[in-house]
Amino acid sequence: MHEELDLSPVAREHASRPLNEGPPPRFNAYGRVTGPCGDTMEIWLLVQDGIVERASFTTTGCGPSRACGSMATSLASGKDVREAAQIGQQEILKALGGLPAEVEHCALLAANTLKAALDAYGKGRTDRAAHRMHKAGQSCETCPDETCSAKKRKSDESDADFADRRKLEQRLCRIKHKILVLSGKGGVGKSTVAVNLAVALMMDGWSVGLLDADIHGPSIPTMLGLEGERVEGEPGELLPVDLGGLKVMSLGFFLRHRDDAVIWRGPMKMGALKQFLKDVAWGDLDYLIVDSPPGTGDEPLSVCQLLGSVDGAVVVTTPQKVAAVDVRKSVSFCRQLKVPVLGVVENMSGFVCPHCGKHTPVLKSGGGRGIAEDMGVPFLGAIPMDPQVAEAGDDGYAFVHRYAKSPTAGAMRDIVEQLFLELQEE
Ligand code: ADP
Repeated sequence: MHEELDLSPVAREHASRPLNEGPPPRFNAYGRVTGPCGDTMEIWLLVQDGIVERASFTTTGCGPSRACGSMATSLASGKDVREAAQIGQQEILKALGGLPAEVEHCALLAANTLKAALDAYGKGRTDRAAHRMHKAGQSCETCPDETCSAKKRKSDESDADFADRRKLEQRLCRIKHKILVLSGKGGVGKSTVAVNLAVALMMDGWSVGLLDADIHGPSIPTMLGLEGERVEGEPGELLPVDLGGLKVMSLGFFLRHRDDAVIWRGPMKMGALKQFLKDVAWGDLDYLIVDSPPGTGDEPLSVCQLLGSVDGAVVVTTPQKVAAVDVRKSVSFCRQLKVPVLGVVENMSGFVCPHCGKHTPVLKSGGGRGIAEDMGVPFLGAIPMDPQVAEAGDDGYAFVHRYAKSPTAGAMRDIVEQLFLELQEE
């Protein structure tokens, strides 16, 4: 039909060769609108750090509808969500060099669909904020959830144990998502992944807590430049270090010196972990990322049991085939504890040259993906070995923030996006 219409050269180009057409592989906001003309348009957005990174569309309409979807998504791409929300029918028409009056409604359909997608994105946030307020304004006594385990004492529980469990559950109840970061052994980059995951979520506007529960090697204070920080609070109420959007708690804050070793025996260790988890006053959080002790022994087991229900675990590994054994152990560990495996991250996957940026597969890569497929769990992505990651960790700043534009930071953010998809699918 548009062949007969007198379209401007720009509109004709977008109608015949539309940009951003088709559903994307990844998105975190979606809108679908059917206009009075009967055409249906769909728009998908990938929003990161408050910026519309990618926008794409489909339409059941013909040329002018395609031109408007193409232009609306092109105008939105790269814009801050608030600026993107200003794109209306007139902006789309203007950018297309106008449209014949009888098809101007196509620009309104595109503007409304874009708005629906942006609203869906905003609503995700608002729902979470409302959830937080609901939880925040509520005490266990006024909470209507009669099935909540914090309300009932178990038959084999002493008064003191019940009081402890209740306190812990009340604190954790105000946290929307709890994610464990696990690894079959130390040194694979578990803490690095936990830190960068937490910071990437914070950069995306979520309120995040990062708990360093690695009782023997708490490294997060060093990785975030927080050595020497003191934890404040009343007895029984530890306030995490608040970095604005990111709250951090580590056993390392209780060591007088970075080289002090934590030598606790079995029951003491469990008691310390329990007290630590129970007493941290996180307040309301969207995400709590827990850097678990490595391995599949008593310590990660205690962390899992104390945290109770979690959204799932991210298992960090390295590319070599031998590392697959550790992933297997971690996945079986999660399955035994009924902790969903959100996915496997392959860290130190190839080497990024600091001079030319070239990626070389030093260790044979693909082990993480292979074992994830083998075990029937998602593969979240790979992070290369990048000297700047190690340097950032040593110097006390989060790599994903400091080198936000680097390909390695991009790989980290892709993992976060993949994680969002896994969480949505639960
Ligand atoms: P884990 O928590 O598994 O013991 P860490 O996160 O402490 O491991 O990482 C071990 C060392 O490897 C640290 O010095 C860290 O900076 C470095 N490291 C981790 N991931 C990478 C990476 N992708 N590139 C370069 N160095 C890394």
